[in-house]
Amino acid sequence: PQLFQPERVNSQGFDLTHRPTLAAIDAARDPFRGHAWQAAPLTAKGAKPGQTAAVVNPADPGDTVGRITWATPETVAAACAAARPWDAAPADRAAALNAAADLYESHFGELFALLHREAGKTLLDAVAELREAVDFLRYYATQADGAPPLGRVACISPWNFPLAIFTGQIAAALAAGNAVLAKPAEQTPLIAHRAVELLHQAGVPATALHLLPGAGDVGAALTANPGIDGVAFTGSTETAQIIHRAIAANLDPGAPFIAETGGLNAMIVDSTALPEQAVRAIVESAFQSAGQRCSALRCLYVQEDIADTLTEMLTGAMDALSIADPWALTTDIGPAIDAEAAAGIKAHIARAQAEGRVIKTYPTPAAGHFVPPTLIRVSGIADLEREIFGPVLHVATFKAQQLDKVIDAINATGYGLTFGLQTRIDDRVQYVTDRIHAGNAYVNRNQIGAIVGSQPFGGEGLSGTGPKAGGPLYVDRFRRHDRNRTAS
Ligand code: GLU
Repeated sequence: PQLFQPERVNSQGFDLTHRPTLAAIDAARDPFRGHAWQAAPLTAKGAKPGQTAAVVNPADPGDTVGRITWATPETVAAACAAARPWDAAPADRAAALNAAADLYESHFGELFALLHREAGKTLLDAVAELREAVDFLRYYATQADGAPPLGRVACISPWNFPLAIFTGQIAAALAAGNAVLAKPAEQTPLIAHRAVELLHQAGVPATALHLLPGAGDVGAALTANPGIDGVAFTGSTETAQIIHRAIAANLDPGAPFIAETGGLNAMIVDSTALPEQAVRAIVESAFQSAGQRCSALRCLYVQEDIADTLTEMLTGAMDALSIADPWALTTDIGPAIDAEAAAGIKAHIARAQAEGRVIKTYPTPAAGHFVPPTLIRVSGIADLEREIFGPVLHVATFKAQQLDKVIDAINATGYGLTFGLQTRIDDRVQYVTDRIHAGNAYVNRNQIGAIVGSQPFGGEGLSGTGPKAGGPLYVDRFRRHDRNRTAS
């Protein structure tokens, strides 16, 4: 794998401090403010269509974003039978993926509108997400080569990065020459549908890329189909375990399973940390994307000596966050993805409130599935029973001599996705990062927003199987490696 790629640069995105750029974004989004998209499976004709449903805006359930016709287990069977690995020359595959990246960029207004209205993403999030999707396409395109593909790959993706992760899985599998059967999250089928249309328009054959929107029954039908040769999944650890068992029961024993799952991510802030830098990193890591990133900070450990000062600065910064419609340029925190997600996070906050552990919380807009940014006191990460996928930050304090205990407690969760450290002691950086179990450890910065090609992203333990997305080893997992061949 090629680590240094002078011919490829990441997407530049948009400069949101530049007024003409903002005006151009506004103009491009505007036609899609009230648009209603129509989406359905994109695959072999023939299978009877499934039910249809309205897709609504999580920030405003009165806003209908579009209609989706679901795939069914029969659609899945027909798609698997029709899927053909993409046998075009590697350079032609790369050209189509690059053309798709260009189309994504030129459709930014529509894609931002979809990201706001279907996924509740703020403009900052939408810009970052489009960039990441484009970067995945161009990065994996450089790795298309003549090695044999697996065959048919199921890509099962989450609602929290409905464009970037959806595209990343597909782009890697296609770069390697596979046929892809993509099942987007049931909350975000419209953006997935638009993305697949653009990929087809760019030259990816319809036989090599099938869209199967649906709920768990569609995923289950995919992982029960012996025609599937590998599965890429991003989502919860529980679902990954279910899929893993299905693969073991139904697929070829060698079919690779690439899983990127949850985390219980911690940050340690010691008494030498720069407080302004730490507060900024904490706010971004815990509350950006309304905390709906698997990389998000869940448990903050602050050294006792600075805990009062830091908490005061942190709640001051939280006071300034705007919780509102993600379409608005000034919004910092959009909604939770749906009513069920919001109810679960709010129940967690209510329990903490009943126990007198809420340090700070806020009112939210009445309509929509908003959840307030909230700070909850805990004695340590072991108090967190599970990943709370929202803008809720748990805070614990520690004494200088307890650093090893804190590291042990973080490692004992069994997860290992992201980790943050704020310190000005160089030796401590080495000491802590040597011991912490995390796929991505970040020092003196936020712990979200890994960059394709330079910060491969993925965890260990309960957080995933590797290889890391956006890293040099990812595409290779979508190639066939003859397991029975002896060395010659
Ligand atoms: N890659 C994203 C990040 O670094 C997180 C991906 C996810 O939430 O699944 O923030």
